[in-house]
Amino acid sequence: MILRGDALEGVRMDAESLKAAGSSVGTAGMIVMDENTDLIRVITRIAKFYYHESCGQCTPCREGTGWLWKILKRFEIGDGQTSDIDLLMDIANNIEGNTICALGDAAAWPVQSMIRRFRDEFEKRVSRTRVGSPEPSDRNRLAEKTAPVSS
Ligand code: SF4
Repeated sequence: MILRGDALEGVRMDAESLKAAGSSVGTAGMIVMDENTDLIRVITRIAKFYYHESCGQCTPCREGTGWLWKILKRFEIGDGQTSDIDLLMDIANNIEGNTICALGDAAAWPVQSMIRRFRDEFEKRVSRTRVGSPEPSDRNRLAEKTAPVSS
């Protein structure tokens, strides 16, 4: 689960404290990102990982992880729509708790928590699209990113 830095002030690094702060100890791995980090790029990369790792056995994970990644890529190049933010949350909510292994939840939680805590970052990428279509360089990036995921 993704937390804002100010939510971690004084929080101890134990399971109960992190749960109370709105996250979890998980596998005990932690990534600290500063204010210069492109959070939309980060969540898009995380989504790509889970899409790649999905074994395809359950429909919500097989289809949903790919949908999350493809929609997030639109935000990454500044081509997201406001309605896509709620669509992302809806897809993640439909994956969570509806798969037979924990990968589904693990794919949904980062997207859910990123939207809850950094919705403003998504909204910034929407506003770029209102002043015009993506720049040619962005279109080239999209073409690269829509290439099939290699194993
Ligand atoms: S939730 Fe687990 S079992 Fe289901 S498709 Fe995803 S990786 Fe496979």
